Amino acid sequence: MDGSSTQRDHCHHVIIVGGGASGVLMAAHLLGQGHPETRVTIIERGPMLGCGIAYGTTHPDHLLNTRVAQMSALPDRPGHFGDWLSRTGRRVTDQCFVDRATYGQYLGDLLSPWREGGDASRLRCVQGSCTGLRETETGIVARLDDGTSVLADAAILATGHAVSADPEPPLRGAWDFSAPANSDATVAIIGTGLSMVDHVASLLAAGHRGGILCISRRGLLPQVHALTRPLDLGREDIPLGASVSAVMLWLRGKVRAAEEAGGTWRDAVDGIRPHIAAIWRAWDIDERARFLRHAATYWEVHRHRMPPISSERVDTARRQGQLSVLRGRFDSATWRDDGRIRLVVTQRGHARSSAFDVDHVIDCRGIRRDPVKHAAPVVRDLLDRRAARLDPLRLGLDTTNDAQVKDATGWPSSRLFAIGPAARGALWEITAIPDIREQTFRLAREVFGSRQLSTVKGV
Ligand SMILES: Cc1cc2nc3c(=O)[nH]c(=O)nc-3n(C[C@H](O)[C@H](O)[C@H](O)COP(=O)(O)OP(=O)(O)OC[C@H]3O[C@@H](n4cnc5c(N)ncnc54)[C@H](O)[C@@H]3O)c2cc1C
Repeated sequence: MDGSSTQRDHCHHVIIVGGGASGVLMAAHLLGQGHPETRVTIIERGPMLGCGIAYGTTHPDHLLNTRVAQMSALPDRPGHFGDWLSRTGRRVTDQCFVDRATYGQYLGDLLSPWREGGDASRLRCVQGSCTGLRETETGIVARLDDGTSVLADAAILATGHAVSADPEPPLRGAWDFSAPANSDATVAIIGTGLSMVDHVASLLAAGHRGGILCISRRGLLPQVHALTRPLDLGREDIPLGASVSAVMLWLRGKVRAAEEAGGTWRDAVDGIRPHIAAIWRAWDIDERARFLRHAATYWEVHRHRMPPISSERVDTARRQGQLSVLRGRFDSATWRDDGRIRLVVTQRGHARSSAFDVDHVIDCRGIRRDPVKHAAPVVRDLLDRRAARLDPLRLGLDTTNDAQVKDATGWPSSRLFAIGPAARGALWEITAIPDIREQTFRLAREVFGSRQLSTVKGV
């Protein structure tokens, strides 16, 4: 921890803004692993805890992109999710990909020990939108949109992805899964990532017969999951600090080694996975920017894979000619007089743009959006008041490795923290559950646990 301070025993009361996966994992670890007297208040604007955008879907074909075995909320109990599934009557193995709605229920259930019974006094859940956070001499105050406030010793921003509010019509948002009224309609999907896979699953499950045109610059789809034996790589094996191209060259060597040993590229990617944050942190800003420009998309489609059944659905639709993938840049979408949509795309390698007339256009351009334009109101307020700043690559809030939010001068707060996708700049690989679980577990123990928490320099 850094920052000038005087010592005090521990954090009595912690506010968590955002009750999605990150917020719920943080609360569970603070209450389970942190100081036994710590109290937690979760402020969540939605009705459900543990859902957020990822696990708020109710569609049975929207699956986790990670097996049951890797989705436990507790790092020290890898079988915890599997046990919960069998306890709640689901007959699945730990190699299965279950639907995301079920995972949302699991996360919601994670807090039940503190929602009823003897420990109920330690957790308070407030439904509302947090519009502001102000540090004081003795604590931090969260202001809510209903005019009420909550006072605490520290606050953790778990506001998630800076997702765009509903896009401008005629575009439809990535989280709007309503099926077209006419099942013969032509649907265009901008983006070929996992959100596209969700939409294809919804369309096909609704009996859609019309064409599906998927567009992205490189036309890359998420790779499919297959059994993997992650290479056993220690930190000493990783070329920390080497340039992006040197790391990619090294990784290709590991892929070849895995294939020569009868494995696949997945063994190398899964072997390097626990070291990604360290590789990212060892890069300077220029190398990080180079990675984002040249390698991130390739890394994402190999790292965030789709379950075999989702891949089969997409492949079958492609083989039958219903689904096609176009490599190109989306330029515009405008209504035509007949109510259809004129979609303009500049195809890869083409100087001139092409026009396509379709009936629906779904915007699945992923979750890496403008963190200011799409910021949650509380984050926007902190940025406007220079009490926080973006990381140099505008991936999210700038924080220390202990998730302390840095103000506009770079001074780390000792009362305000940001976790998960909300602060992606510090770690890069902090969007999936296995990474968020590790971060929140460590923070609960090391930063909020028995370790002393310094008071602020006074704002
Ligand atoms: C579609 C999708 C599918 C995914 N599937 C997987 C998967 O299978 N496996 C995996 O490991 N990872 C997956 N991920 C990644 C990972 O699980 C998510 O990144 C994770 O759910 C992020 O959780 P979060 O709580 O940080 O953010 P969110 O899910 O965005 O939750 C943020 C929460 O904060 C609330 N909030 C925001 N601002 C305020 C405010 N001002 N006041 C009050 N409340 C506020 C929101 O209402 C929301 O509930 C997926 C991500 C997405 C988008």
